[in-house]
Amino acid sequence: ERRARAEAPVTPGALRDGTSIPLLANLGSADGAAEAVRLGAEGVGLFRTEFLFLDADTAPSVSEQTEQYTKLLRAFPGQKVVVRVLDAGADKPLSFLNDAPEENPALGLRGIRALRASEEILREQLTALAQADAASEADLWVMAPMVATVDETRYFTALARELGLNTVGVMVEVPSAALLADRILAETDFASIGTNDLTQYTMAADRMLGSVASLQDPWHPAVLSLVASVGAAGRTQDKPVGICGEAAADPLLAVVLVGLGATTLSMSPSALADVRASLARYSSDDAEAIARAALAAEGAADARRAAHEAAAALT
Ligand code: PEP
Ligand code: MG
Repeated sequence: ERRARAEAPVTPGALRDGTSIPLLANLGSADGAAEAVRLGAEGVGLFRTEFLFLDADTAPSVSEQTEQYTKLLRAFPGQKVVVRVLDAGADKPLSFLNDAPEENPALGLRGIRALRASEEILREQLTALAQADAASEADLWVMAPMVATVDETRYFTALARELGLNTVGVMVEVPSAALLADRILAETDFASIGTNDLTQYTMAADRMLGSVASLQDPWHPAVLSLVASVGAAGRTQDKPVGICGEAAADPLLAVVLVGLGATTLSMSPSALADVRASLARYSSDDAEAIARAALAAEGAADARRAAHEAAAALT
């Protein structure tokens, strides 16, 4: 009996009024896939590919990469899997990509900028992903990290399509990309907001530095306001806007993000159950009301308090 209960299927993510909000997993290797499925992940919203490249003297071959991506995709038959291409920079130097030291790695040649400067590595990664896609039943989406401009969006989307990928998007984790969300979404299929970097760059607070950790808070209305503009652009153009930063793992902030227009949430698998339970308590109208309360606050602590009060008034 205990076994039957443990294996009961987990219900999909949804608001109280039935609006579907697929809940996805953030993964860093295919090894975590089975556990994510057990915890009810409806797919993968962020697969970080860095682990394949770090500690290597040369870039992994197309066939090595294809093998790893195929292993991942086969764990999610019929489900969405969003793979992010390599996000390296001077903070994670790779001898074959970018090993010039920089004073400000967070502002340097990283993410899509580094890949564009070494396009062969990007081409090989996209080729491996297309091959893995052909060898599996998953619904593969690919996205680029650290996109700052419409031009980068157009570049990545065209290259990925040329190499055979069907669903292509970009991460919105630089404020310029959030501010240009309408023009960026017009050039690609979807956006996924990385709240960790979006908060770092919006607040000008290094996410690795403890002394400014209080500023690195995704509840800050400045960050929420950028999320709201991406959400609005997604609604206008009817394109998916996911969240894949840590913010999605906070049960009440998850409701706020949905109220601002997020259509999917991706998080570390251990957070799925609490976020699922939180979403089920509120309707779409509730989520929008809670989001409005947070957005109107003057700082992160007030936004948190205002959202809790708005939520308490509803239930
Ligand atoms: C983010 O920046 O929010 C994100 C999801 O990417 P990473 O944490 O890998 O930078
Ligand atoms: Mg990031």
